[in-house]
Amino acid sequence: MYLKELTINGFKSFARKGELEFNTPITAIVGPNGSGKSNVAEAFRFVLGEQSIKSMRGKRGEDLIFNGSASISRSNRASVAIKLLNPAKNGTRVFPLDFDEIVVERAVNRDGTNEYAINGSKTRLKDVQELLASANIGPTGHHIISQGEADRILSASPKERREMIEDALGLKVFQFKKAESERKLKKTRENIAQVESLRREVAPHLKFLERQIKKIERSLALQEELKGVYAEYLKREDTYIAFHHDRFTKEREAPVARREELGTLLTEAKNKLKTREKDDTRDGLVALEKKMSEARHKRQESVRLVGQLEGQILFLKRQITEKQKKRDAEEDTPIPRIEVKKVAEFIEHTASQALTSGDVKVISRAVSDIVRAVKVLLTHTFKGEDDGLPGLESELTTLEKEREHIEKEAEHIHTEEEKLSREYDDIKKAVESEHAESWEAEREIFAIMNEQREVEKTIDTIDRELTMLERDRQEFKSELQEAVSLLGRSAGMYFEHIVLDGEGKPVVVDTLVSEDRTLQRNRKHELERMKIRLEELGVGSNEDVVKEYNEVRERDEFLVHEITDLTDSVAKLEALITELTNDLNEQFVSGIEKIGTEFNNFFILMFGGGGAELLRVKPKVAKKEVDEDGSEPSALEEDAEEESEEGIEIDVKLPNKKVRGLDMLSGGERALTSIALIFAMSQVNPPLFVILDETDAALDEANSRRYGDMISALAEKSQLILITHNRETMGRAGVLYGVTMAGDGVSKLLSVKFDEAVAVAK
Ligand code: ATP
Repeated sequence: MYLKELTINGFKSFARKGELEFNTPITAIVGPNGSGKSNVAEAFRFVLGEQSIKSMRGKRGEDLIFNGSASISRSNRASVAIKLLNPAKNGTRVFPLDFDEIVVERAVNRDGTNEYAINGSKTRLKDVQELLASANIGPTGHHIISQGEADRILSASPKERREMIEDALGLKVFQFKKAESERKLKKTRENIAQVESLRREVAPHLKFLERQIKKIERSLALQEELKGVYAEYLKREDTYIAFHHDRFTKEREAPVARREELGTLLTEAKNKLKTREKDDTRDGLVALEKKMSEARHKRQESVRLVGQLEGQILFLKRQITEKQKKRDAEEDTPIPRIEVKKVAEFIEHTASQALTSGDVKVISRAVSDIVRAVKVLLTHTFKGEDDGLPGLESELTTLEKEREHIEKEAEHIHTEEEKLSREYDDIKKAVESEHAESWEAEREIFAIMNEQREVEKTIDTIDRELTMLERDRQEFKSELQEAVSLLGRSAGMYFEHIVLDGEGKPVVVDTLVSEDRTLQRNRKHELERMKIRLEELGVGSNEDVVKEYNEVRERDEFLVHEITDLTDSVAKLEALITELTNDLNEQFVSGIEKIGTEFNNFFILMFGGGGAELLRVKPKVAKKEVDEDGSEPSALEEDAEEESEEGIEIDVKLPNKKVRGLDMLSGGERALTSIALIFAMSQVNPPLFVILDETDAALDEANSRRYGDMISALAEKSQLILITHNRETMGRAGVLYGVTMAGDGVSKLLSVKFDEAVAVAK
C-alpha cells in the first residue's frame, strides 16, 4: 500500500480543506448523487498532473476552483495534495527520491496558473510527471476509471487502445524517453543542418583564403629560396667585385707610375732635343764653310793669277832670251845715272806708298808701275836702237815679283784655308756627333712614346675592366637594394651566409672568384625568374589574410567539431531510440500476451465461459482517408501513419452464444468485458492504486458479486479506491468515506459505517 492520503482544498465543491486517509487495500467512497464523489476522483487526476481540463469536466483551470455558493464565497485557489509512501525494497525505492514519504501537490489559481511541489519544494510539471511515471502512474490515468469511462477502452480505436495498454504496461516512461530522444534527435538534426549551412556559407570564403594562404606559403618558400640564391649571388658578386677591383687597382699602379715616369722621361728627351736644336754650331759651321769657300775662292784666284803670271813670265822670258841672244850679239849700252836715279826714286816712292796702303791691289798696281818704269828706263838707255829688252826684263821682274807676292798670298790663304778646314773638320765632327746624339734622343722619344702607347693601352684595358666592374658594382647595388626591399633587411646580411663547398667547408675567396662567371650569370637569371614568379603570386599584406584565415578556419573547425559532436549525439540518440523501440516492442508484445491471457481469464470468470483475446492488428489506412483536404500526405503524416500502424483489436466470444465481437454485446456485457480488460491490464503491471468511479453501475446482482470477487483479487496487487453505489462493492471495502453536500453546496467528507454507507448511498 503506497497511497496514504489525499488532501483537497478549494477544489471544485470541496470549499474547505478535507482529508482522505487510505489505510486499507480497498476504500469505498459513497454518497448521494451530486454530492461530489467524482470530484474526488478528479482531485486524484488533478494532483497527478492531468492537463486535460475537459477530462476533469471543466473548460478552464478556473472551473476547478470552488466557485462559491449562496452562503459561501468562492475560493481563489484550488489545491490537492497526495501523500505516497516510498519504502525501500532491496535498496531501491519506488520513487527515485530519498524520502520515505512523497507529497505531491498541485494548485491552480484563478488566473489559470498552476503550481507544483514535491515534498514542499516547488517544481515543474515535468518533474512531477517523471516522478510518477517512475512508479507507473501515467498521465493517461489508466488507473483512474472515471464514471462511464470503463466502456472507453472498448469504444476506442485500435491505436488509442494500444496507447492505453502501453500506459498500463508502464511503457509510458520509455515512451517519454523515446519521444524526448526523438525530439532531441530532430532538434539535433536541425542543428546539424543549421551548422552545415553555416559551413556552406563560409566555405567559399574559406577556400578563397586557403588558396591565398597556399599562395602565401608558396611565396614565403619562394622568398626563402630567393634569399638563399640572393645570398649566394650577392656574396659571390661582392667578393668578385672587391677582389677584381683590388686586383685591377693594384695592376694599374705600375703602368700609371710608369706613365708618369715616361712623361718625365719624354719631357727630358724632348728638352734635350730642343737644346741641341738651339745650338749655333750649325751656324758656325755654315759661316766657316762660307769663309772656307771664300778662302778657296781667293786661293783659286791666286792660283789662276799665278798661272796667268807664269804664262806672262814664260812669254816674257822667252822674249828676253831671244833679245838677250840678240843683244849678246850686240854691245852692251850704259844707262845714264840720272835716269837710273830717277827710276829708283820712282820705285822707292811707289813701293813705299803701296806698302803703306797695305792693299794687295794697290801693291799689285804699284808692282806693275814699278816694272813698267824699270822697263822704260831700260828702253831709254838704248839711245841708239831700242830693242825693248830692258822693258821686258823690267816687266818680267815685276811679274815675277807679282807672282811671288801672289804665291805668298796664296800660301797664306792656303794656310788660312787649312786652318779653316781643320776648324771646319772639328766643328763638323762636333756637329756630326751632335747629330748622332739628337738621333739618339729622338729614338729615345720614339721608344718612350711607344712605351707610353703600350702603357696607355694597358691602363685602358685595366680601366675598361674597372669600368665594367663599376657597372657590375652598380648592378650589384641595385640588386642588393631590390633584395632588401623584396625580402627585408635580412636579405642584405648575405655575409652571414658563408659559402660552403661540396664538403661543407667555407669556400675561400680565391675559389669563389675563380668560379666561371657564367655560373653567376645563371644565378642572376635564376633570380630574375624567381622574382617574376614571386610577382605572379602577387600576395599583398600577409598578416591580415593569415589572421582572417585563422579566424575563419578556427570557426570552420569549431563548426566541424560541432557537427561531429552533433553527429555523435545523433548516433547515440538513434541507438537509444532503437533500443527503446526494441524494448518497447518487446515489452509491449510480451505485455499484450500477458494481458490477453488475464483478459481471457477474467472474461471467463465474468461470463462463466466463452473467451476473449487481444489481437495485434495493422490497419491499412488509405492516404485519402488521412488527407481529408485531398492534399498529398507530408512526410510527417506518413510517419504518423506508420506509428498508427499497429493497434489492438478485441475479440470476445460469449458462452452459449453464436455471436462474436464487441458489437453484439449488451450494455451489461460490455461493462463486464471492459472491466475484465481493465482488471487484466491492472493485473499484469499492477498500478500503485486504482480508482474506479461507478464502474459497477450497470451490473446486476449476480455480476456484482463476480465484480466483487475480482475487486478482491485485484486488491491484492493494487490499492483500490472505489466510488460506488453498489452494496456488494461497499461490502468489499475496509474503509468507507461518505461525501455529503448540504444546502451550502459544499462537499464534506466523513468516515461512515457500512450500514450508514448503504443508507447514504441511497
Ligand atoms: P453522482 O452520484 O450523481 O455521480 P457525484 O457525487 O459524483 O454525483 P459530483 O459529480 O462529484 O457528484 O459533484 C457534482 C457537484 O459538484 C455538483 O453539484 C456541482 O455543482 C459541484 N461542483 C462542480 N464544480 C464546482 C465548483 N467549481 N464549485 C462549486 N461546486 C462545484
